[in-house]
Amino acid sequence: MEINEFVMANEKVIRLGAFFGILGIMAIWEILAPRRALTVSKAIRWVNNLGIVFFNTFLVWLIFPIVSVGMALFASQQGWGLFNYFDLPFWLTVVISIVVLDFIIYLQHVMVHAVPALWRLHRVHHADLDFDVTTGGRFHPLEIFLSLLIKFAAIVVLGPPVLAVVVFEVILNGTAMFNHSNVRLPLGIDRVLRWIVVTPDMHRVHHSVEDDEANSNFGFNLPWWDRLFGTYRDQPRAGHQTMTIGIHKYREPKQVAWLPGMLLLPFKGKITGYAINRREWTRPDEK
Ligand SMILES: [Zn+2]
Ligand SMILES: [Zn+2]
Repeated sequence: MEINEFVMANEKVIRLGAFFGILGIMAIWEILAPRRALTVSKAIRWVNNLGIVFFNTFLVWLIFPIVSVGMALFASQQGWGLFNYFDLPFWLTVVISIVVLDFIIYLQHVMVHAVPALWRLHRVHHADLDFDVTTGGRFHPLEIFLSLLIKFAAIVVLGPPVLAVVVFEVILNGTAMFNHSNVRLPLGIDRVLRWIVVTPDMHRVHHSVEDDEANSNFGFNLPWWDRLFGTYRDQPRAGHQTMTIGIHKYREPKQVAWLPGMLLLPFKGKITGYAINRREWTRPDEK
């Protein structure tokens, strides 16, 4: 199929172009209209947060010979996936694939908050003391591998068009950079926009040190899952300017702002002490 060949041949150019293009736009916007003052210098943030992004890209390239797009092509050649059993219009298959993949990413995000061992990996993302465009790509390599395996499994089960997977990757990367950026959006625009896409103000709530706020707004791209599944929270209690970002226990810049510390962070501390098994339940007769 022609479109598959075009997408496969230009996949890297499309993805890299979108990445650097959106990164540049958001970086300029952050200089022109910042939402908050940074606590760690921008130079340190860019070197270390983008350092982990490039490190992850290199590792994935080294360990996984094919990426999601290649997996989608392989699945379609094998005739794998649900979409092979339904005769839907091409555009509809693309739209459904993107929405379903986004829902799976939402569920994965809830899971890495709920399972203590996985939270260790995901807390590298949350330990960032500030919130800007570089936070969007700051994930531990082990979490990147986990995401990749989940995405592969979803592609095998779903059998989405190759085009849908490329569009999804580009949208997800773009919205992750947008909704992590330290930009000031007029409140009226934010209120309307957050019905169709996760906005920076909406996702900033998720980076609060407060547990109940950090366990809200899991969406990366579409904001509907949070509203639908009861994890939506409008604003942070302390306000966007004065709320504290990061994790209570980990505030030492050496550990959370520098690359070596970030890579070691999942292996620090005891395995318990977070999420589901931490909550205290009161039996009715104890009241
Ligand atoms: Zn999270
Ligand atoms: Zn985030």
